[in-house]
Amino acid sequence: MTTSESVSRNAAPFLHGPEFAAMAEALRAGQYGHNTATEAFEAELAEFLGVPEVVSVNSCTAALHLSLLLAGVGPGDEVVVPSQTFCATIQAILMAGAQPRFADIDAGTLCVDTTTVRAALTPRTRAVVPVLYGGRAVDLHEIRDELNDLGITMIEDAAHAFGSRLGSDLVGTDGALTCFSFGPIKNLTCIEGGALIPRDPDEAERARALRLMGVTQPQAARIRTTDYQVHGPGWRYHLSAVHAAVGRVQLAHFPAIEKKRKALWRAYARELTALDKVGLVDVDVDRSVPFNCVVRIPHRDQVFATMRDLNIGVGVHYPPNHTQPAFSAWYRPLPLTEATATEIMSLPFHPAMTEHDVDHVASVLEQAVRVAESEKL
Ligand SMILES: *Cc1c(COP(=O)(O)O)cnc(C)c1O
Repeated sequence: MTTSESVSRNAAPFLHGPEFAAMAEALRAGQYGHNTATEAFEAELAEFLGVPEVVSVNSCTAALHLSLLLAGVGPGDEVVVPSQTFCATIQAILMAGAQPRFADIDAGTLCVDTTTVRAALTPRTRAVVPVLYGGRAVDLHEIRDELNDLGITMIEDAAHAFGSRLGSDLVGTDGALTCFSFGPIKNLTCIEGGALIPRDPDEAERARALRLMGVTQPQAARIRTTDYQVHGPGWRYHLSAVHAAVGRVQLAHFPAIEKKRKALWRAYARELTALDKVGLVDVDVDRSVPFNCVVRIPHRDQVFATMRDLNIGVGVHYPPNHTQPAFSAWYRPLPLTEATATEIMSLPFHPAMTEHDVDHVASVLEQAVRVAESEKL
């Protein structure tokens, strides 16, 4: 890829090569549904994370939906969630029949913190869903006991944060219900996919039934009987063997991706220190596997337009949800979310980029900021 091709994309899937053969083999095997390849992927994820159980599903949206159901969230309940997230987080709350209660964020990290979560709690709060924006772990330990005592479950939207750590613990290992995305542009891709980390074996079993239409016998047992039992509600959320085959290759190569994403983010941080109008949203790179690189800039819309004209794949992650038409019933003022929403811009960030690409983006950004400022004089 040339610099111009590479930096014209904001994000892109990254394949190591063996995914092609792995997919072909899964296709040749002729059983595409949930099967032993899916279970092997789950076991490998569990080993990587150091947790007893991982339940794979076909998206993080599905993982969030099931986690809310596992936490007993339903009609009449409120779920505290940042407005600064992908709309899927909010849709999952509505899918569970509950209502979002939007929380404000810290302007430096774009994540909720103990203060903004506490300020959003009401007597109807049943769950809190921090979003690990950019791959950064969100530390709510200070209020964890308090939430527990109130019967409030913490469910992490860790769509960005596979491989990241809180202190020395990998995200997903410290006892919260955690949801990962393995979508096309995430740190690890199955093309489409996701996983949830249950809190105990009983929850794992319930999650496995919910993702497979309420059927609890494993496939191997099912095909040997003339009957099967449906034990309760369920969705068609399982991860196909073909997608799992891609995920297994990606997981085996994950250390290289971790290294690459950290190096790219650090290269941006170095280049951008010279630009005094540009603030970098901090992902705690020493402990995180960065998902994106987001800056805060004045005259954002104009800088964005200039960079797009120069074929730089800038993006905005995300337009806030509390001002979306679909979620307007739950609007409440969120000063920091609203202030940062007009300033944030995501720079091209994906593992095929080089440090040379980063230099190029940084110099175009400098130029675009200069143009925007001179036009404002
Ligand atoms: C990608 C993403 C999701 C949804 O993940 P899917 O696997 O696409 O369903 C949820 N939350 C955030 C923050 C995301 O970036």
